[in-house]
Amino acid sequence: MSESKSPTLWRRYLSFPLIWKMVIALAGGVAAGLGIATLDLQDTVLPILDPLGEIFLRLLQMVIFPLIVTTLISGVTSISPKRLGRIGTKIVAFYLVTSALAVSLGLGLALLVSPGAGLRMPGEPADAADVPPISETLLNIVPDNPFEALSDGNVLGVMFCALLFGLALAFMLESENDEHRELALLLRRGVEGAMELVFKVINGILQYAPVGVFALIAVVMAETGFDAIGPLLKLTGVVYGAIITQMVVYVVIMLLFRVKVGRFLAAAKDPVLTGFVTRSSSGTLPVSTRAAEKMGVKEGVYGFTLPLGSAINMDGTAIYVGAATVFVADITGVELTIGQLATVVLIGVLASIGTAGVPGAGLLMLSMTITSVGLPMAPVALVAGIDAVLDMARTAGNVAGDLVGTRLVAGSEEGMFQEPDESVPDASVTGSDDPGTKVPVVENAASDSERTPTKVEDLT
Ligand code: ASP
Repeated sequence: MSESKSPTLWRRYLSFPLIWKMVIALAGGVAAGLGIATLDLQDTVLPILDPLGEIFLRLLQMVIFPLIVTTLISGVTSISPKRLGRIGTKIVAFYLVTSALAVSLGLGLALLVSPGAGLRMPGEPADAADVPPISETLLNIVPDNPFEALSDGNVLGVMFCALLFGLALAFMLESENDEHRELALLLRRGVEGAMELVFKVINGILQYAPVGVFALIAVVMAETGFDAIGPLLKLTGVVYGAIITQMVVYVVIMLLFRVKVGRFLAAAKDPVLTGFVTRSSSGTLPVSTRAAEKMGVKEGVYGFTLPLGSAINMDGTAIYVGAATVFVADITGVELTIGQLATVVLIGVLASIGTAGVPGAGLLMLSMTITSVGLPMAPVALVAGIDAVLDMARTAGNVAGDLVGTRLVAGSEEGMFQEPDESVPDASVTGSDDPGTKVPVVENAASDSERTPTKVEDLT
């Protein structure tokens, strides 16, 4: 039977790293598109390629709602209300404020640079008249019917419901009533199961991603020629520039709070670099906790703030969502209204809570933002083509944000921070593998990570 042959080929395809499949798809798409343009074959080839790309975009949109519902509920239940004392309140406030700052920075810099200017991509530009006034957008955050919010594609409304139910579940988990607690545990397991299921579906969709990216990029290239390369480089510059600016802002904040920045950076460089290469802030957690320990932060703070940060604080992703939304608006010829900009900021902050700390998760958050401000999805494919490069920087930014918050909160709490004794040689510097070196055990990490399942393979 031919069965013995095809599974081998399929298995080979599956085991080939997705990131390389995407790179090949991108390069192949560019080459094919330019070839089509040069040979003037648009009319014959594009009708075949178009639906292949469209399917990928539809699949991405299909998983947005299941993803945000499960990841938001899971993210919110990772904050134990009991622990929301002073430390919890401070760190949650820090995470939310810096995420809002981050998305505004991404938006602001992109509006200044207009990374997509000069490139026009076919797609149905949102009719400005279709965009509801800001008062209506705000009111719609509270839907009268959650199912209607789902079917209408009301992202903010769905997010609001997920947050509300997530919070209620978090309280139930801490209930004095045994039966309520038991039920809540069951529900949480159910949400975790559903989240894993969504990730399985996403992993499956991403096996199709190279085909989709190839087709979409080929179509864009066939229609625009070399014009798309400059804007993509500009977008990369904007995202990296905004993330570096955010890091400078962190340094200024730390200086204001009299943090010894040199020491902080010496300890933080390992996790930030690890985030950069692994593209997973959850995966970087062990390295981050070790760095926090090295800085002199006590376990009582970092054991809570770091796992929480890896679940709900994604400053780099927020920057990317802001910048890429402007990019998409640019190339579809839409001028974002104040209301749409405000929506992007709001969604950026919520996306920061709802993004799983795994490679590629930000791309789905971008698709969600694009849908919710009424922009066409097609240009997202262009961003998808270079997503891995952007993901590296945004994950580094995500990890840095968690560490800054952790260091500042520890410094503000009595007995939670102690400047490390410099006379004691550092094992990571000397390279010694001293078994006596304390490898931090993350207090509550087990329960926190149990609450945010991240058994997810590479998403891009
Ligand atoms: N890869 C990012 C992280 O793990 C999430 C994202 O894709 O933006 O933090």
